[in-house]
Amino acid sequence: MLTFEQALEKLLAAAQPVEEVRLLPLTAAAGRILALAQQSTAAVPPLDNSAMDGYAVRTADVTAAGVCLPVSQRIPAGTVGTTLQPGTAARIFTGAPVPAGADAVVMQELCEHGEHGVVINHVPRPEENIRRAGEDIAVGAEILKPGIKLRPQDIAQAASAGLPELPVYRRVRVGVFFTGDELVQPGEPLPPGAIYNSNRYALRALLEGMGCEVRDLGTVPDNLDATRDALRRAAADNDLIVTSGGVSVGEEDHVKPAVEAEGRLDMWKIAIKPGKPLAFGEVRKADGKAWFIGLPGNPVSAIVTFMIMVRPFVLRLQGVSDVTPRAFDLRADFDWPRPDVRAEFLRGRINEQGGVELYPNQGSGVVTSLCWGDGLVMNPPAQAVKPGDRVRFVPFAELLS
Ligand code: AMP
Ligand code: MG
Repeated sequence: MLTFEQALEKLLAAAQPVEEVRLLPLTAAAGRILALAQQSTAAVPPLDNSAMDGYAVRTADVTAAGVCLPVSQRIPAGTVGTTLQPGTAARIFTGAPVPAGADAVVMQELCEHGEHGVVINHVPRPEENIRRAGEDIAVGAEILKPGIKLRPQDIAQAASAGLPELPVYRRVRVGVFFTGDELVQPGEPLPPGAIYNSNRYALRALLEGMGCEVRDLGTVPDNLDATRDALRRAAADNDLIVTSGGVSVGEEDHVKPAVEAEGRLDMWKIAIKPGKPLAFGEVRKADGKAWFIGLPGNPVSAIVTFMIMVRPFVLRLQGVSDVTPRAFDLRADFDWPRPDVRAEFLRGRINEQGGVELYPNQGSGVVTSLCWGDGLVMNPPAQAVKPGDRVRFVPFAELLS
């Protein structure tokens, strides 16, 4: 048996980012993976500018509250004023360039109209309400590192630095299919012995949520030829094939011999619960190979194994550099006296007191535990937990994109 850490390391060691890079306009780049470091083409802000609507002054002219200064110019945003003459003030607006000579802006709420100009009822300190050129970003500074998933704020950063487009990796293409003659689609009648195929919808949503292009080959009959045929079709267009079910060693489990016939397969027994069996390998195709990952059929096993094993693998294919989800130490508000010898990924949620509770039924078919919960407690092998102990908790938010 492999430990969770060993299995993950083996998976990640195999993953290579897709090579193709394309330039996308900023409007299309959110959620994509940046392929190359980006430098700013401009200083941000480009000019010294006012943080307030008010009056630009020389602090030397305002040594006491109540000074009255004639207003020598008006500078709205988008215009550039002239040098501020000593003994005068400039009417100025938020974002407008601060005129040469001025070293503070007094907000308008602290000023009033006087007979001979503006009365300044406040003694400003030098630099007050001035945003200096380049104080956020210097020209040429690195603003975005390669291997990040571009968030809205990263796109804003690129725009303010003057970049119209960004180089991103192409989307990872994933073929999915599902084994099990008992599976029927929601919306169809449920004959005796049948169950609804929930993994199909889980895996599609998980992969699409990660920004993959998903090609769905549907349910494949439980026999060797059909499974081999599905593997060939899935390999042809895709970087990765993900399936659910049929990876145990029962007579009805055809995934293993099918992948062996079409490529190469390692069957891993991983010391994790849920999700012990995981099949990892590759399927040959004309121009190389597609990766293959076979998930267990039990719905909770399939989803949890996806979150903790497939997700980091896919992130690597996508070109993401940091694939480790953030985990937090939280107080256990539960009792777990009989731990498994395998590492457990328990469905839990944070209560209003900031502790973690567990869903009472931790069965590997109980999808309700995942819906009730908002994350996983990662419990090391054979670790009993008493209320008040610290446990590692990974929020689903860290595992779903
Ligand atoms: P298997 O790994 O094929 O032995 O399946 C293990 C369990 O998961 C069985 O109870 C299956 O009926 C169930 N199962 C397999 N595939 C799916 C699926 N796509 N959706 C929901 N349950 C499934
Ligand atoms: Mg099956």
